[in-house]
Amino acid sequence: MANVESFDLDHTRVHAPYVRLAGLKRTPSGDAVSKYDLRLLQPNQAAIEPAAIHTLEHLLAGYLRDHLQGVLDVSPMGCRTGMYMAVIAEPDEQGVLKAFESALRDVAAHDQPIPGVSELECGNYRDHDLGAARGHARSALEAGLKVQETVLLER
Ligand code: ZN
Repeated sequence: MANVESFDLDHTRVHAPYVRLAGLKRTPSGDAVSKYDLRLLQPNQAAIEPAAIHTLEHLLAGYLRDHLQGVLDVSPMGCRTGMYMAVIAEPDEQGVLKAFESALRDVAAHDQPIPGVSELECGNYRDHDLGAARGHARSALEAGLKVQETVLLER
């Protein structure tokens, strides 16, 4: 199998919540695409409930784009401790940190219907929890987000 960056991260030596540059790829024409690890909960200590991370996905899809240019994708991690974000170019980590904090503040304050929640727009539209999503955003902000360096596994 191809090597996968996240399997080289020592998940016991990171301190959530954080943002981390997880990878950088260049297209054949030379454009950069950066992948970020936006971690809300400490790995193997807790996990975001499925309905809550689904709502976070819907809200961060819009709010991160409001605060950061060139966002290609924001997707939940299968382990449910955070999100992955792919973004065009090489935004600096402090800029990504500020954008993530701003987006989380927007999520924590969100009191409108969740965008994209209908049978037409979503693949599991009944499975949402706005209250829990807001709570996770608030908790991360209260804990204080920072830039996390990649700590590689020693093999
Ligand atoms: Zn959905």
